[in-house]
Amino acid sequence: MLYDCIIIGGGPAGLNAALVLGRSRRNVLIFDSNEPRNAVTNESHGYLTRDGITPSEFREIGYKEILKYPTVEHKSEKVTVVEKIGNHFLIVTENNTVKTRKVLISTGLKEILPDLKGLKDKYGKSLFYCPYCDGWELRDRPLIVISENPGVHHLAKLLYNWSKDLIVCTNGQQNIFSEEQEQQLSSKNIRVITKEIAALHGDNGQLEEVEFSDGNRINRTGGFIIPKWFNQLKFSENLGYDVNEHGAILTDNFGTSTVPGLFAAGEAATGTPTLLIISAASGSIAAARINLELTEEEFSL
Ligand SMILES: Cc1cc2nc3c(=O)[nH]c(=O)nc-3n(C[C@H](O)[C@H](O)[C@H](O)COP(=O)(O)OP(=O)(O)OC[C@H]3O[C@@H](n4cnc5c(N)ncnc54)[C@H](O)[C@@H]3O)c2cc1C
Repeated sequence: MLYDCIIIGGGPAGLNAALVLGRSRRNVLIFDSNEPRNAVTNESHGYLTRDGITPSEFREIGYKEILKYPTVEHKSEKVTVVEKIGNHFLIVTENNTVKTRKVLISTGLKEILPDLKGLKDKYGKSLFYCPYCDGWELRDRPLIVISENPGVHHLAKLLYNWSKDLIVCTNGQQNIFSEEQEQQLSSKNIRVITKEIAALHGDNGQLEEVEFSDGNRINRTGGFIIPKWFNQLKFSENLGYDVNEHGAILTDNFGTSTVPGLFAAGEAATGTPTLLIISAASGSIAAARINLELTEEEFSL
């Protein structure tokens, strides 16, 4: 069977694309390895009508909606190879090899957390990276804002609207702020600690204390960190698409890549973290463009 479109990655970008294409009566197969970036968190926020939903419930509802359409199939499989053969693509997983006219890559981003003892079990529970996602839940709490990255200054300024009780920790990095930046923070009583962190303490994912390398401890009940994000440049060797300045698949505003027939949506096309609703919207836009291309091909004389 020749599919109209194969979607690789079933996060909000891929799911919304499947919905739009399925409803356009296109035969769609969505492959998903079920490792979404937000799997560590208990609740997702900021998606109108779904504020506070768990990531797994969000997916369940998504799959239920798309699989109502007989035009949409889903397989929980990881795609390992994508190859372009003439005008079509060959998609390979452990169990399947299938052919398709168009491909949408919506495989998201991977993130690397800072190497801090005690962070892993608290990430997504009381330590986060995105104020718009989790700032409200941590409002008015004593917070720590940790990063060796000078961008921590900007993050602290943003967070001040959610909590006035902020301490910035540069985890051993000295002099990462300009004099003006230091003054800005101190004018709002935001302390900067440059000592290295020895451990983050607390049970059940809830931060209680931050311990520094000199043994001192401070009470903090939540906070924010800055991870590193990377794009896995999926299938780039075979496909040879261009990449943007963040290493993601370069696309136009409609998700069209530099390889004819290949599209990208969500964070696979930004290379920087966004939000569920933004990823879903970009999946919808790309799907409409894929349907348009398929239509034009069908009408070409
Ligand atoms: C801790 C945390 C909290 C967050 N909280 C919020 C929040 O409250 N609100 C909000 O709007 N956003 C939140 N986000 C951000 C949100 O998770 C992302 O913006 C969103 O998931 C990006 O969607 P996506 O479809 O691009 O990628 P993803 O949701 O990451 O989905 C990509 C999918 O592709 C699959 N995949 C990857 N490679 C392959 C392959 N080779 N074959 C098959 N499948 C593959 C993965 O398994 C995954 O299921 C949070 C993120 C984190 C880390």
